[in-house]
Amino acid sequence: MTDQHAANGRQKVSPGAQPRIVIIGAGPTGLGAAYRLKELGYTNFEVFEAQGFVGGLSHSFTDPVGFTWDIGGHVMFSHYSYYDRVFDELMGEDFTLNDRESWVRIANRWVPYPFQNNIRYLPPEMAHECIQGLIRAQTGRGEIKSHHDARNFGEFIDAVFGEGLAKHFMRPYNFKVWAYPPEMMNKHWIGERVAVIDYERALKNLILGKDDYGWGPNNRFKFPRKGGTGEFYRRFGPVLGLTQDGRETPGSHIRLNKKCVSIDVDARTVHFADGTHTKYDMLVSTTPLDILCNKMLTGGVPAHVREESSKLLHSGGHMVGIGIRRRCPSTKSWMYFPEENCPFYRVTYLSNYSPFMTPADNTKGDASFYSLLCETSCSPRKPVDAARIIEETITGLENAGLLEPGERNDIVSTWHYYADYSYPTPSVDRDDILSRVIPWLEDRGIYSRGRFGMWKYEVANTDHTLMQGVELVNRLVLGEPETTIGVVYRITEDGRQAAVHERSAKAGSGEKRLVEVKPETHHVGDLQAGEIGEEEAGVGGD
Ligand SMILES: Cc1cc2nc3c(=O)[nH]c(=O)nc-3n(C[C@H](O)[C@H](O)[C@H](O)COP(=O)(O)OP(=O)(O)OC[C@H]3O[C@@H](n4cnc5c(N)ncnc54)[C@H](O)[C@@H]3O)c2cc1C
Repeated sequence: MTDQHAANGRQKVSPGAQPRIVIIGAGPTGLGAAYRLKELGYTNFEVFEAQGFVGGLSHSFTDPVGFTWDIGGHVMFSHYSYYDRVFDELMGEDFTLNDRESWVRIANRWVPYPFQNNIRYLPPEMAHECIQGLIRAQTGRGEIKSHHDARNFGEFIDAVFGEGLAKHFMRPYNFKVWAYPPEMMNKHWIGERVAVIDYERALKNLILGKDDYGWGPNNRFKFPRKGGTGEFYRRFGPVLGLTQDGRETPGSHIRLNKKCVSIDVDARTVHFADGTHTKYDMLVSTTPLDILCNKMLTGGVPAHVREESSKLLHSGGHMVGIGIRRRCPSTKSWMYFPEENCPFYRVTYLSNYSPFMTPADNTKGDASFYSLLCETSCSPRKPVDAARIIEETITGLENAGLLEPGERNDIVSTWHYYADYSYPTPSVDRDDILSRVIPWLEDRGIYSRGRFGMWKYEVANTDHTLMQGVELVNRLVLGEPETTIGVVYRITEDGRQAAVHERSAKAGSGEKRLVEVKPETHHVGDLQAGEIGEEEAGVGGD
């Protein structure tokens, strides 16, 4: 059914042939794959989605009061012209353009992001500790002399940022985000350019009292005008045969409420919770890789595939939305919270992204509602009491100075969503695991892609994941190499096809580089954009 391209190890569907492609999951990855197949005139494919709606983690919900919520603050910074084109095609003019205005809450004050460039906002002793540590680290006088010597993310933080920044911001903040100690994470996901921090700039800003914000005209992001982040993904539905309000039609490529429960790797058959089944020639799975290998695959599956994939780490996330009947007091976009006086690591003024995120039409100038979206991570290393998270979030908002005294009386809506799989942890052994499990699956026609399908946080934002789906189709149908996931396909000496992990210049998979790639010519996508991954770690540049 497929040609093996001996020269480069790519697969390509024979001209005229249409093997059956089954896609598990209608999140951005599955939708991207399906959209591209449709665009190429490919007809023999179906998407099966467990939920009654599309979008996955990028879906949005409108609560009974009329507030719209995303599953955590979703900001779109595209690295790809293809992604931008699809956005334009589906959204037209239906979006807002927002300045990225992000801040860190620490020592009872707001410090503009990037933190290390605005140390002057800190109390003098803390500022001194931070700048002294940064200079020591960047001049090779820290405890760990160089980031090259760091064995994990924790040591990387110490080597790059120095003691003060590590103690006051990087370590506590990253534990709150990842819910694992940084020593359990690898150092590669963060990208190499973060390793060199301009300490002279940090020092100059401190002494001259200069502001150094990370926002401005080059840092604007688009957001759907109505319906939240999920509106963009909802609009893939009608292209793929769903009705405008998301219902199936007889000719739909998407099947909703179809939860895949098992996959027979030998018979190439997918079984669903409703007792039905379907055959595939190629399977695209966007379900979490550990669940796929341990709970879904049946047939001849070696023990090492199950064991290794079960070692992948992830965190869950409690998303709490607080809707308030007041005029919004701030122009901020989102804020980071390293301290222990609140459970959340990040809060977004979601109502600032579009006036249509609240019940009243805020465009009329009588903006009487605003909304805060608060994210708290959890893991076995960082348990969270789900029954108390709303109350603890409200108290945390008061402690952090976001809610004024008495303002809790104006809360008119609370919304809680728990994402069991929220952040794929770039653990120390992640890339070793992927380098063995992904090729085994691909030898059997199973392509695991997406935020938790590929488990690579560094390429797990919406633009990356949608493009993981698109690039996989380009590989399977057109024989083009995938670039985003940092995996290169080659023919081994004995003639088999193998997927080997490449360390991409930008995505930093941490694997040995088998094909020489010049950093200046190889990007995750074809566009340069803000590095959300680094930003979420609180360390991005400007
Ligand atoms: C807290 C948080 C903040 C984020 N912030 C940003 C941001 O600021 N910017 C950004 O660009 N991205 C952000 N993202 C990432 C974004 O949500 C993901 O990139 C994207 O949703 C991943 O798409 P996916 O298709 O790979 O997976 P998912 O979105 O998880 O979709 C997978 C789909 O597969 C379905 N599925 C799973 N198992 C089965 C099964 N057995 N049978 C049938 N269907 C199944 C699921 O129901 C789901 O619909 C954030 C994510 C989180 C959690």
